Amino acid sequence: MDFYAGHVLRLDLTALRATVEPLDPDWARLYVGGKGLLLRYLFEELAPGTDSLSPGNPLILATGPFAGTAAATCSRLAVGCKSPATGTLLDSYVGGSFAPELKYAGYDAVVVTGKAPHPVLVLVEDDRVEFVPAEGRFWGLDTAALEQKVREEMGPWHKVLSTGPAGEHLVPFACLSTDQYHKAGRGGAGAVMGSKNLKAVVVRGTGAVTVGDAASFSADVLSLQNERVLTPDNAWTWEEGTPYLVELVNAAGALPTRNWRSGQFDQAGAIQSSELLAVRTRIRACTQCPLACRQVHVFDEEVCEGPEFETLGLCGANCGVGDLAAVAEFNRSCDELGLDTISTGAVVGLAMDLCEKGAADYGLAFGDVAGYLAAPGLIARRESWGAELALGARDLAALKGRPDLAPHIKGLELPAYDPRGTFGMGLGYATSDRGACHMRAFTAADDILGGEAPPDSLEGKPALTVEQQDFSAAAWTGVWCANLYIDTDFLGVHFRHLWGRETSHEELMTLGARVWNLGRVVNVREGFAREHDRLPGVLGVPHPEGVAAGKTVADDEFQQALGEYYRLRGWDADGVPTEETLTRLSLDVRP
Ligand code: SF4
Repeated sequence: MDFYAGHVLRLDLTALRATVEPLDPDWARLYVGGKGLLLRYLFEELAPGTDSLSPGNPLILATGPFAGTAAATCSRLAVGCKSPATGTLLDSYVGGSFAPELKYAGYDAVVVTGKAPHPVLVLVEDDRVEFVPAEGRFWGLDTAALEQKVREEMGPWHKVLSTGPAGEHLVPFACLSTDQYHKAGRGGAGAVMGSKNLKAVVVRGTGAVTVGDAASFSADVLSLQNERVLTPDNAWTWEEGTPYLVELVNAAGALPTRNWRSGQFDQAGAIQSSELLAVRTRIRACTQCPLACRQVHVFDEEVCEGPEFETLGLCGANCGVGDLAAVAEFNRSCDELGLDTISTGAVVGLAMDLCEKGAADYGLAFGDVAGYLAAPGLIARRESWGAELALGARDLAALKGRPDLAPHIKGLELPAYDPRGTFGMGLGYATSDRGACHMRAFTAADDILGGEAPPDSLEGKPALTVEQQDFSAAAWTGVWCANLYIDTDFLGVHFRHLWGRETSHEELMTLGARVWNLGRVVNVREGFAREHDRLPGVLGVPHPEGVAAGKTVADDEFQQALGEYYRLRGWDADGVPTEETLTRLSLDVRP
């Protein structure tokens, strides 16, 4: 099969055994790669009700068919398992250069099962696989130190996907790291890797990816690059990166501030893009990405790639911190320790709120950077009061008797778009397959970031949410980056080469719907239903000031929109896909 390596590497950590199996051509046809292939493996490998930190939870790494080719932004990796933060499925995406290296080594995907009897690092060099003892050598290292040691001892071109100290300590919002600053951030895949006594997968490949008619494929990719990628619409990526959103989201009253008490931060000007540009030293790109959105800054001689918009929102405004150098230091600590910055910022903001309300005594306060800067280290190693914060927002707030203050959906902390300033994002968060996620449906683009939809209404948002979720699910079978604005015409050029025939908007959106429904089947099987698709109480309190002052998503309006969303999806009133829907989508899985 052109574009595919044709093999899946299976790592049984309990037995310290590696086997190689052929990629199932039917699964490749129906689910393509990336998110689709990952979820199909998850459905197959995960017994219902499995504890997410037990050996029975598989950790799956999946590439897309275009990884390792010249296709723009497709050389990203999908990482998945059952999430320790939510108990739902987890798919998380990371750039850098790991995915193409895995393809060059001869694998489309890796399925990791079991738990090693002692800490290990798995070294993959083409068809040679070695389980390297990690105790006293790699285990315990921060992410940058680990990568440096691997490069020094194993080779300068080896690529590393690792968990940090936070994952070793099973923090449910521990992430995976590669090329140091690239993170598969959300949902706790780092804790799942840590629970398996697996420090890292290291890969070096010397093969290639075949693309069929190479001249024709290259010509199409080049023409798309000139006409659809390197365009003024996408210039924000290399000119400023995601920090440009701070000003816009704050102006819309949707920037989470001081544990979601407000949507406008009085010090937003100190953490906005222009301040970062003043200390930017260079930009960086993932493999085969001409957009180069990664912004590298230097603060007091310390290098920090980022902070990205979400980090500025959650670790800055949401903690009341307008000191940009402090936010960058917090960001750097999270990167080194392997912590998701969105969840960490949300948890620290919640802890500050609990202290202010007398429900906790951690010595934390909004805007006070001393305890704030100590937090990532204490959380990652579960030391002192960090052990309580390491529970995550939902369980911390419950522990302290204030569940009303927890900014989470299904246990995943909210990203930096407050639904009181952009109602559609609330529906997107509530129906997201991995808990509160802004990436699957991004209706903020249609109301507060230049579109014409009213931000304080759910009218039309169910259809928009379904459409955007299905499109992102289709695009993530090829693991395109969400920072690149694309449509089904763009995807179709690539799929024409993959499938050797023309395709259509309808066919690609059906692919997306198939993948989305596959995920819903996994979640329903894990016990998720309508009662879990809801907004947290913290969003029920209106902001006292700002553009979104006085606004909340009313429950009856939300329930009506949710019912409409289920109807459009072909799900029953409890959110379960009907037999007719699953059959129409050629899905052979059932809850
Ligand atoms: S747009 Fe940025 S994050 Fe996305 S692939 Fe390119 S460099 Fe990586």
